[in-house]
Amino acid sequence: MVDNKQCWKNREFFYSVKSVANILDNYVQVSQEGKGKVLNQSAPEELIVKLKMREWIKSGGMNDDELSKFIDEYLEQGTRLHHPNYMAHQCAVPDIGSAIGDLIHGVGNNAMSLFEMGASAVATELAITEWMLNKVGWDTNKSDAILVHGGSLANLTALLAARNYIYPNAWKDGVPLNTIILSPKNAHVSVSKAAAIIGIGSHSVYELPCDSLGRIIHDEIPKVINYHRNKGRVVMAIITNACAAPTGLYDPILNISKICQSEDIWLHVDAAHGGSALLHSKLQHLLEGIHYADSITWDAHKMLRVSTLAAAVLFRDKHNLYKAFNQNADYLFFDENRPGPDLMHYTIEGSKSEIGLKVFLNLAKRGEAGMAEYIYSRHLAAYEFGEMLCKRDDFELLCKPESNIVCFRYKDESENSNENHIIIRKKLMDKGSFHLASSFVNDKRWFRAVIISPSTNVNSFTRLLNDISYEYQCLV
Ligand SMILES: *Cc1c(COP(=O)(O)O)cnc(C)c1O
Repeated sequence: MVDNKQCWKNREFFYSVKSVANILDNYVQVSQEGKGKVLNQSAPEELIVKLKMREWIKSGGMNDDELSKFIDEYLEQGTRLHHPNYMAHQCAVPDIGSAIGDLIHGVGNNAMSLFEMGASAVATELAITEWMLNKVGWDTNKSDAILVHGGSLANLTALLAARNYIYPNAWKDGVPLNTIILSPKNAHVSVSKAAAIIGIGSHSVYELPCDSLGRIIHDEIPKVINYHRNKGRVVMAIITNACAAPTGLYDPILNISKICQSEDIWLHVDAAHGGSALLHSKLQHLLEGIHYADSITWDAHKMLRVSTLAAAVLFRDKHNLYKAFNQNADYLFFDENRPGPDLMHYTIEGSKSEIGLKVFLNLAKRGEAGMAEYIYSRHLAAYEFGEMLCKRDDFELLCKPESNIVCFRYKDESENSNENHIIIRKKLMDKGSFHLASSFVNDKRWFRAVIISPSTNVNSFTRLLNDISYEYQCLV
């Protein structure tokens, strides 16, 4: 028996977990059944006082009953992603495997970026990245991938590699000022952040021609490339959305990849959200040509039911990943006769959580087929929602959904229409009845629904539309 007061003893952890597990399980059940509010938004100060946070910080000594009470209220005051009326952001609704993975990481904390800090965590990462590379259709001897904390870091990693590809000395010497990136206007904000961070500047991200729905018009790309080249600029990379966060629409990857090949330009496919469509045979066509990409961002914390933060960045040529961080990196992989790699040489972060384990445990429970079924079911629900919207004459659909993201608006021709959409979204959130996001596309404000909770069904859609039209009646 250890006697240091700070050591765990008397199975105190076990009993704490047991009481919290009970609360969590109940929380998910209640959420899934759509009981109660989907979210609460109390002001932080109010909650700090209500939950006696300052007192707890000072005094400590929270026992299991008090812990249960605290967690219960804590969960009540947050956002319930398992609720059928949660349709807001592209955040995974965690599955059991992922939740267990978080607990395991929370205890063991194998910060596995050094092999010696978690051999098993490294193994799960390698198994998962191998699985992902296979899904893309790449030869795992030639390609490689790394797990990172989020799609923004994945995009940054990809563009860092693209920079090194075009300027092999960039790590030491920086980049010429005429370097540019071509990207659709609705690319994720992390693309322009990455441009700023890698030293080409956010002003060096130029827009690609897009249709009114924000999809790249591939036929016009060669003209745009020539235009910039004639101005003395060097195109470092072309970004494509798979799918675009605001609309859920995919760019024509195959056609764009052909242009990138003939012009020798790095193609980055930002499949943070849509990469998971690779898992289902009926959705794969959306990503046709993705295997021609030089790099791909694919989040697990969106459609793979893994809690934040979990993302992958994949490279068709593994050397592009290795060289991005080090000029002569290959030897590092197995130096000092270590049995496994130190992954930190291939990431921006110095330490890393056990991301691979969470993805692994989800797959180990549901199987690839179970995961695919979930992904497909959310797409089907979104398509069904789209059809429902088409049949209503009080609503307008932006376009037939391709993914599980649906943009729609109330047919409101008033000049306050855009603001009204913002007001109604807020009203629904204040009531806690529905949680929607919003997009600005084609000069209009739209409601944006991300169909991601496994419990969302056609009844949720009917109620949502009725609630929105009711709120509109109240407005006028
Ligand atoms: C969500 C998303 C991102 C950013 O991912 P984070 O994991 O939130 O950093 C980037 N690109 C696209 C297209 C996305 O949908």
